[in-house]
Formats: sequence, structure tokens, C-alpha cells
Amino acid sequence: MLATGVTDLLPDIPGLQEGWGTTVHHCPYCHGWEVRDQDLADLIPGGGDMAYHRGVLLRQWTPHLVLLTHGPAHLTAQQQSNLDDLGVRIDERLVAQWDGRNVTFEDGTRLGRDTLFVTPGQAQRSALPEQLGCARIDRGPLAGVLLAVTPETGLTSVPGVYAAGDMIGEQQVVLAAASGARAAAAINADLCFGDASRWTIHT
Ligand SMILES: Cc1cc2nc3c(=O)[nH]c(=O)nc-3n(C[C@H](O)[C@H](O)[C@H](O)COP(=O)(O)OP(=O)(O)OC[C@H]3O[C@@H](n4cnc5c(N)ncnc54)[C@H](O)[C@@H]3O)c2cc1C
Repeated sequence: MLATGVTDLLPDIPGLQEGWGTTVHHCPYCHGWEVRDQDLADLIPGGGDMAYHRGVLLRQWTPHLVLLTHGPAHLTAQQQSNLDDLGVRIDERLVAQWDGRNVTFEDGTRLGRDTLFVTPGQAQRSALPEQLGCARIDRGPLAGVLLAVTPETGLTSVPGVYAAGDMIGEQQVVLAAASGARAAAAINADLCFGDASRWTIHT
């Protein structure tokens, strides 16, 4: 049973690591309520569908939202129009630093914000899945990172090896715990029925 979690990989911009978990957050569901109505920025380097997705989700918490795409926003005309209607501002300038209260851009100008959101990349925390040869998912933003499992049991591609939690993409405490409970039941059943099939029946 593997439950070794993931490591969050923050964009290489000074101040993000220092603010992680205090002035820098990632999840609108985990942290949105606490920062409601504040001046927020969401840093999504490269923009695109993820920027649109995050913009719409975070907009429900505040009307004061700026998406920082750190270069071209790569939004479709429809996405741009929807964000305009929601009053979400897009800023394509390159971000140089976060100091806990201000975003400083590479052109030297600053944008005051109460809280900065980012979408980190992720990597497996432990080398164990690699060493055991567990296959990864091949779709989505975390393709090649998260372990591929049978949803009902948490069974990985390696017989007898189960996984739960963030390493299979649960991303929330309650879901991580639930996937552990589900896998534990599957492991127990495997062991019981494995034993049962080896028993000799004497009549
Ligand atoms: C800043 C931040 C805020 C968050 N806020 C919320 C929130 O408000 N609500 C919410 O539901 N979720 C939140 N989450 C997500 C939540 O923390 C995770 O979904 C949850 O912790 C995942 O549990 P896990 O057991 O899968 O992994 P983890 O909690 O990462 O635990 C894995 C453990 O395995 C250990 N480990 C790794 N390798 C080995 C090894 N080889 N041997 C032994 N041990 C090993 C690690 O040290 C770690 O203790 C937040 C996450 C972050 C980063």
C-alpha cells in the first residue's frame, strides 16, 4: 500500500516558496472562503484553458481578480469575452517577484494584492512507485505523474501494489483518506479470498 503523496513544484519565481501556504495558495476550494472579497491574483504561466478555468472558479470568491499569465494569455475569443463579462482582468506581463503584498513585474512596476494563487506542477514524493514499476496516467495536466489505478480498489498496474491519496490525484484530505479506506478493504478482501482459494476442503 503506497500513500507517499506528491511534491508541489512551484514556478521558479522569488517569493512563491516563502509565501506557500500563507500568502500563496493553490486551491479555490481549500482557501477561497478565507480570502473572499480580497484583491486576488492568480499566476498561471502560459494561460490557456487552465487560466480560463481558474479565472471562472476564483471569480466566485471576489470581484477583484487579476489573472497573471506571465506571457501571452492564449485564451479563445469566447473565453476572453466571458472573463471580460465577469470583470476578470488579464495581465500578460512577466512576473519577477512576490513579496507577500505585491507582485513586481519585470518592467519594475508593481501590483498590490492581498493573496496570490498559483497552480503548481506535481511530482511523486517517493521513488517507490518508480522502483516498483507502477504505471502512470497518460492524460490530463498530471499525465506521467499520477499513478494509474483501478478506481474501485486503488490497485496499481503492479499486482499486489495498491495506492491512495494525492499520488493517485485525490488532492483533498477527505478524498485521500477515503481512497485509503477503499484500498484497505480491497487489500483485506484480496488476502482473505487468496487464503480461501488455497484452503483444502476435507469431506
Ligand atoms: C498548502 C496546502 C494546503 C492544503 N489545504 C487543504 C485544505 O484546506 N483542505 C484539503 O482537503 N486539502 C488541502 N490540501 C491537500 C491535502 O494536504 C492533501 O490532499 C493530503 O494531505 C493528501 O494526503 P496523502 O496522505 O495522500 O499525502 P501527504 O499528506 O503528502 O502524506 C504523504 C506522507 O508520506 C510520507 N512519505 C513520502 N515518502 C515516504 C517514504 N518513502 N517512506 C515513508 N513515508 C514517506 C511523506 O513524508 C508524507 O508525510 C492542501 C495541500 C497543500 C500543499
